[in-house]
Amino acid sequence: MNLKKFVPILTIAATAFFCVPDLKGNAPKSDRFDELRLRRCESGQFSRDILASESDVIVAAGRMSSFTVEKIADGVYALVRKEPASLWFNPNNVIIIGEKDVIVVDSNISSEYTREVLAELKKLTNKPVKYVINTHWHEDHVIGNRVYRDAFPDVQFIGHRSTLTDLPTTGAANRKGSVENGRGLIELLKKQIEKGQDLAGQEITEEARAGYKSDIVLVSSYLSESPKFEIILPNVIVDDLIELRQETRRVEVRFLGKAHTAADLVVYLPKEKIAITGDLIVHPVPLIGSTSYPLEYGATLRKLKALDARKLVPGHGPVLRNTAYLDHMIDLTDAIKIEVEAAAARGETLDQMRKSVDLEKFRKLFAGDSKHKSFVFRNYVTLPAVAAAYRGLHHQKGVEAK
Ligand SMILES: [Zn+2]
Repeated sequence: MNLKKFVPILTIAATAFFCVPDLKGNAPKSDRFDELRLRRCESGQFSRDILASESDVIVAAGRMSSFTVEKIADGVYALVRKEPASLWFNPNNVIIIGEKDVIVVDSNISSEYTREVLAELKKLTNKPVKYVINTHWHEDHVIGNRVYRDAFPDVQFIGHRSTLTDLPTTGAANRKGSVENGRGLIELLKKQIEKGQDLAGQEITEEARAGYKSDIVLVSSYLSESPKFEIILPNVIVDDLIELRQETRRVEVRFLGKAHTAADLVVYLPKEKIAITGDLIVHPVPLIGSTSYPLEYGATLRKLKALDARKLVPGHGPVLRNTAYLDHMIDLTDAIKIEVEAAAARGETLDQMRKSVDLEKFRKLFAGDSKHKSFVFRNYVTLPAVAAAYRGLHHQKGVEAK
């Protein structure tokens, strides 16, 4: 089965939260079918890194919740998504409760999901939300903002300065593509499930089947919101660092450098030694997509590591209690930079680099024996990251990439 014939439909996933411009900013090229975006799955080979104790995890009783609630410090709760890995995303959220008010990190792919988060928040506290921090401008992290604006008229939205330009431009273009192609993606995934085949035309695994089912739910929710989309831009702008106070608690909102986007904010609680990383970290397969900066990514992750956090809350995936996974991501992003720079020094074109840059050992590291995760790695790391690094090199040289 030739995957390329699904290009028009599958670019939905690529365009949902990332721009997929070609080198001249035109529409996605046909070979970008592979730039699907996946997010976390239930567990990976790094599960040993995840040391949450049973008592830390409060599963909302009496109803089906789409996340687990994990208390990671006094007054600090991580809402960790349950959706399995697949083509669409919904991010973790963190609720930080102070004496008088509340800070929330990230909203969701649709208001429906954010209303669920808000209902959980109201079980934890009756204090108002004062700040919503959007870790970056990808839509799955911002669409639910309106729920907080409607519930708390004085709420302020915190984002990196580049969000002001990227969200109304690249973000709007992505959203248009997602809306146009969403119904087609749903039908395609349903058809593959019925046929018992994955998107590569091979026998579908349970892991892929669960992922596709989850996608259908997420896309449906997104499409149901689409007629009333309202994107809320940040009104508190971060360039490098701002510090918020909750009486005795300090909450630092830091920009450590470009990586997953040019807007990645890390929320760091120095006393509690918690870092909320947005999509700088995505588990179990990283997301180094079309709007990423692979040449800077490793250096940014080193700054994140230097914060010496004891708990890392990724954009997608479980709370991490050590830096093993972060170290693997540093090794991966370093390797991409070194290999792409070496290929460029040999004068290779992008197509040549796509063949010569060898990330197979990292595919094994992150995906293990999983066909589904391997598909994710190839489509969400290898292909888009090499292309993004290639573009970055040309920008560095001040030469328009060809
Ligand atoms: Zn993202």
